[in-house]
Amino acid sequence: MNNKPKIAIIGAGNVGSTFAYALMIRGIAREIVIIDKDRERARGHCMDLNHGMSFTRPTEVVDSGYEGCEGADIVVITAGAKQQPGQTRTDLVRTNTEIFKKIVPEVLEHAGGAILLVVTNPVDILTYITMKLSGLPRNRVLGSGTVLDTSRFRYLISEHCDVDPRNVHAYIIGEHGDTELPVWSGASIGGIRIDRYCPTCRNFRNCDREKALQGIFDNVKNSAYKVIESKGATYYAIGLSLVRIVETILGDEKSVLPVSTLIEDYYGVEDVCLSLPCKLGSRGIEQFLKLELSPEEQGLFKKSAQSLKKILEELEL
Ligand code: NAD
Repeated sequence: MNNKPKIAIIGAGNVGSTFAYALMIRGIAREIVIIDKDRERARGHCMDLNHGMSFTRPTEVVDSGYEGCEGADIVVITAGAKQQPGQTRTDLVRTNTEIFKKIVPEVLEHAGGAILLVVTNPVDILTYITMKLSGLPRNRVLGSGTVLDTSRFRYLISEHCDVDPRNVHAYIIGEHGDTELPVWSGASIGGIRIDRYCPTCRNFRNCDREKALQGIFDNVKNSAYKVIESKGATYYAIGLSLVRIVETILGDEKSVLPVSTLIEDYYGVEDVCLSLPCKLGSRGIEQFLKLELSPEEQGLFKKSAQSLKKILEELEL
């Protein structure tokens, strides 16, 4: 008997197909269903993935219509228009909102018990819209949020400080986009707060700390623009981020990841989706962690929330 889970992926573009590939290699799903309005593209990816199956754990990888969502544990939505060079994530909002109005009811008709993971940009707005369209409880609708940005952040800190990224704890929170913010006040390396770690570093004398930290964050914020300029889309790191989110839910791991969730009562912010570290388990989002932010970070967080709320108001949902 195989009781491994089933994952449905809506959108067989760069992100959906790379996620399917990474998920297949991880070997944690019994079945991966790929759905796209371009059925031929979905079919092509499934064939290509299946041709590598002799090198991974057995997984059923199939293309389908929305009926393929039946029995899915998690439905990952990556369908929609993507950022063009120079375009912001929020520019995409109207196009992708219309697409979601079609997709979400289809998904619910066949997978009413699933957890919905939104990836399409602008991810915070679309997570909120998915929550409203679906009427599902807040724990069962989440966005990939700043999991990717946080991974970029940890990588860049680790590179600068010459330490394994897995020993860096630091979060990017707020919008997955231009108003996101770094939580330097809670950043640590090997359990030591970063401002205390720096003087212990052998490069301390040669390092202009303020400039370095600002450079790291600027680099995080501009990463997607740079990758899109270079090769048209970002997909490897988001593919791995999605595997991490999905495996912590499926394994009931209670790992803390900064996914996009509906915020209520946090520094005066409410009724908007954005990222804060959340504990994830088999029920989806089990808790969001109320980080203690510095006064400056609180201000930036509120600004990030306000800019998202403004977009939601303009959409007149
Ligand atoms: P892509 O253009 O390669 O793929 C999008 C796919 O969606 C296409 O295959 C298209 O046919 C399909 N599609 C469009 N409308 C559809 C519909 N109504 N029903 C079913 N399928 C439909 O784009 P991509 O590079 O895979 O990016 C997908 C989305 O993910 C974009 O919005 C992008 O901005 C976003 N993204 C998010 C993150 C993140 O961290 N949240 C990271 C990278 C990309």
